[in-house]
Amino acid sequence: MTTRREFLTSCALAGAALTTGGKTVAHAAAQQRESESTGRPLVVSTWSFGQAANAAAWNLLAPGGAALDAVEQGARVPESDPANRTVGLGGLPDRDGHVTLDACVMDHAGRAGSVCFLEGYEHPVSVARKVMEETPHVMLAGAGAAQFAAEQGFTTRDLLTDDARNAWNEWRKEARYEPTANAERHDTLGILAVDQDAHLAGACTTSGMAFKLHGRVGDSPIIGAALYVDGEIGCATATGHGEFVMRTLGSFLVVELMRQGRSPQDACTEAVERIVRSLGDDPGETQVGYLALDPRGRIGAFAVQPGFQYAVRDGARDEIIDAASAF
Ligand code: ASP
Repeated sequence: MTTRREFLTSCALAGAALTTGGKTVAHAAAQQRESESTGRPLVVSTWSFGQAANAAAWNLLAPGGAALDAVEQGARVPESDPANRTVGLGGLPDRDGHVTLDACVMDHAGRAGSVCFLEGYEHPVSVARKVMEETPHVMLAGAGAAQFAAEQGFTTRDLLTDDARNAWNEWRKEARYEPTANAERHDTLGILAVDQDAHLAGACTTSGMAFKLHGRVGDSPIIGAALYVDGEIGCATATGHGEFVMRTLGSFLVVELMRQGRSPQDACTEAVERIVRSLGDDPGETQVGYLALDPRGRIGAFAVQPGFQYAVRDGARDEIIDAASAF
């Protein structure tokens, strides 16, 4: 059995001080230290449902399209999928029955746009792109974001499907109506792409934690938390318990570690380790997964515990991969 200390040391974390508490990791982790790509263009997304997002992105990337267009089109796929309960249409509502959406985009030039606590619009990622391109601001929230979306010509839609309403009603019967994180009911799409010109871009979109307190905003629309892009260095995205990602500004951290010379894989591992240090020996239901990409097409992924998957699409691959984890 490999201890966490042995594993992390074997990852050659460039002299990082490691506090491990003797926890163990799966041997599979070692196999995932470096996931080399076959070259550009390439797109990666969080979770298995990211494969459908990648397909839409690939349609643009393969003939030479721009990474920013690709990640936006990719993110729109789960946003429109009523069967996806964690993003856009069909997303599970908050404690009070409102579907509130968070999304952001960022490109290789450092431009960024974001919306949070947005209700009634199916494609928050596209509204976020409009914030980036049509305003001098980075983030719009709630009613102001909805007003801006209307002004930009987006049409409203009731996003609470019968299925999601039924799930909420069931939860209300069982739940003690407390604002506890529910590990089974949250998953964000984070999508990162590098195009033929080596330009990077990323997007992130979610309905956030199911049955969250009304007004709660997670990491997903926060530039630097769930998404960060540096055109020279690389980009990163996050999924899972947003509060842990926000407290450590995780995606910014991953990219800054890459700037210091870490590979995308080692950077994701170290960013998870910062969270693990606060969890002690038992992560409970806490899950965070990071996914990173550099302009060479190197991928990194690491999670607090097993279960985090990501999808990769390039000229040679269209697959879903289990990420290694700390526990
Ligand atoms: N990160 C999202 C949030 O905290 C949820 C998730 O990715 O599962 O809102």
